[in-house]
Amino acid sequence: MRQFIQKVADDVLGGAVLDAGTAIRLSEVSGSDLYLLFAEASRIREYFKGKTASLCSIINAKSGRCPENCAFCAQSSAHATNIAVYPLVDDDVIVDCAKSAELNGAVCYGIVTSGTGIQPGEELERICRTVRRIRQETAIEPSCSLGIMDYDTCLKLKEAGMVTYHHNLETARSFFPSICTSHDYEDDVRTIQAAKRAGLNVCCGGILGLGESFAQRIEMAETLRELDVDSVPMNFLDPVEGTKLSDACFLTPMECLKTIAIFRLMLPAKNIIVCGGRETNLRELQSWIFLAGTSGMMTGNYLTKTGRVPEVDRQMLADLELTLEVCA
Ligand code: SF4
Repeated sequence: MRQFIQKVADDVLGGAVLDAGTAIRLSEVSGSDLYLLFAEASRIREYFKGKTASLCSIINAKSGRCPENCAFCAQSSAHATNIAVYPLVDDDVIVDCAKSAELNGAVCYGIVTSGTGIQPGEELERICRTVRRIRQETAIEPSCSLGIMDYDTCLKLKEAGMVTYHHNLETARSFFPSICTSHDYEDDVRTIQAAKRAGLNVCCGGILGLGESFAQRIEMAETLRELDVDSVPMNFLDPVEGTKLSDACFLTPMECLKTIAIFRLMLPAKNIIVCGGRETNLRELQSWIFLAGTSGMMTGNYLTKTGRVPEVDRQMLADLELTLEVCA
């Protein structure tokens, strides 16, 4: 197995595209061979991304009452959860949070709203106005995650100054009907294609630990590769009471790390960002995400849960002797 891992990594560095069959074989790596897999993923990360790491932050700008029924989501109106529910927050709150994110070392700041998608009208105008202010008042790159979008809306947000559109696929196409039945996977795919066509960077990944098989994780990575997204956020399910997946088990830290490493080998030049569920799934092994091939992580609070204080995250990167990417 060790020779196989090294050969696959050498092939990837030589420009080969890792096929699903080889990725499945890598998913069988166990024991001390895992450390070699992590080391090779780390070598590939360093080759494409250097010794730097990026931080991003988000604001939950509009929370709850979502008509979609994503099985994991605390914000779905299909679930009875204890989260805060509120309409689109004031422009000043969004801009102030962008300033805090910048001070905390983030290079990208995401304005996230619950719901199927933001329609043209008052809310969209306010978000565009806020994006313009963030561009004027900070050096951080504004990103939006507003649900299913069409090309014209993507273009409008780009003209306002938005750099990146974020929209997760959530999971593999073949597993999606077990997770969400209120919209179609292709609606998400079309959103990503529209954002790319509008000339935006696209940040698109999913959530691991929803009950999908390893083969389905690999299937999702293949779809992300086909869509040629720029950044791949990897979330690990942190079950919320009241959701359909409230009784789901956490992934083991080693399974999370193995999944990250395989994503790095499948998507060698992409920005792989570890986001929600880091603390609860990785626990003491959080710093290993970079050894397994991650190139960035979310810092600060998540959508409905609190994260670690950003100082701790920055110290972790310093201890790993990684240089923090800074705003241009
Ligand atoms: S993941 Fe997004 S679309 Fe799905 S229920 Fe939650 S807020 Fe709605």
